[in-house]
Amino acid sequence: MTDRKPVDRRSFVKRSAGVAVGAVAVGACGGAGGEAPAVQTNPRVRWRLVSSFPRALDTLYGINDYVASRVEAMTDGRFSIRAYPAGEIVPAFQVLDAVQQGTAQLGHSASYYFTGKNPALAFDAGVPFGLSARQQNAWLYEGGGGELMNELFADFNVMAFPAGSTGTQMGGWFRNELNSLADMGGLKMRIPGLGGEVMSRLGVNVQVLAGGEIYQALERGAIDATEWVGPYDDEKLGFQNVANNYYYPGWWEPGPTLSFYVNRDAFAELPSTYQEILRGVTIEAGEIMTARYDNVNPPALDRLIAGGVQLRPFSQDIMEAAYTASFELYEEQAAADPTYRRIYDAWNAYRKVSDRWFATAEWQYARFAFGRTD
Ligand code: CA
Repeated sequence: MTDRKPVDRRSFVKRSAGVAVGAVAVGACGGAGGEAPAVQTNPRVRWRLVSSFPRALDTLYGINDYVASRVEAMTDGRFSIRAYPAGEIVPAFQVLDAVQQGTAQLGHSASYYFTGKNPALAFDAGVPFGLSARQQNAWLYEGGGGELMNELFADFNVMAFPAGSTGTQMGGWFRNELNSLADMGGLKMRIPGLGGEVMSRLGVNVQVLAGGEIYQALERGAIDATEWVGPYDDEKLGFQNVANNYYYPGWWEPGPTLSFYVNRDAFAELPSTYQEILRGVTIEAGEIMTARYDNVNPPALDRLIAGGVQLRPFSQDIMEAAYTASFELYEEQAAADPTYRRIYDAWNAYRKVSDRWFATAEWQYARFAFGRTD
């Protein structure tokens, strides 16, 4: 990240000392009624956190309450954050605007929602045939991706911190079986974003529907298919009751990474102790969210299969055509915009090296172990 400082021993000592001094000074201040400079070490700060997700999505939205409670616990309640689900202060897709304008100091979203502002923002969340959750974390935290993305976010007076991943998503729910690429022609599918753009290049009739409208559209046959997230979230929306074929993988979201957006002015006003706590808690929250998905998806998948859902992989010709169309799309966007070109080239070079490594030990292990039934 642009402003990331290593948390070394020295800063830890300094931070601990700051907390101690602050605690003493608050007591002294209460008695004297004066304004000791050290009091400002731990001022009372109240922030608002706006999310792009509804409270009902406990996996995605739940991480906001986690951040609020952890920050509060680590500052003895002096830095309090109140989280609001989509629609309470701002609608889902205005989270970046709200943080930019300071309506909220903190936001929680997925950056591919904001490609209308800048197409390259997609790389912060992930793109079709892009990085897995672990690769995405490696690129953003350690591989230069965070710095590249934060150069873009500076245009919005925002810093972005990674906030965990759903892991590779499922390809979604199809009323009928897909046997080959030819079956994609004219298929009415609800799929937003870049995945939708690639699908339309494969002949799919792409539909954009809000989360609450999908079930009925699928039930009535107004759409033939929909994607959502993965077993745990999908099961709650009940898609298994109206479409029986559950395809995988969601190649358009191999490791979609959520983000916390922080207003730069608000962050600069925080004492360094609170800045460090906030950074640390976002990393912790990201780990916890990914772990929650990896914990709740397996039993949800088992329940769906037990209920009669048919699991099916996308055919090789669909995967190949989608891969080719995806990289054609990135090349077109890169040709139109030098900033996109710079980010895409760095990302693509990183992806190739990373894929070679993940194709080695991880992949061979997964191939051997994950498919076993004994
Ligand atoms: Ca999805």
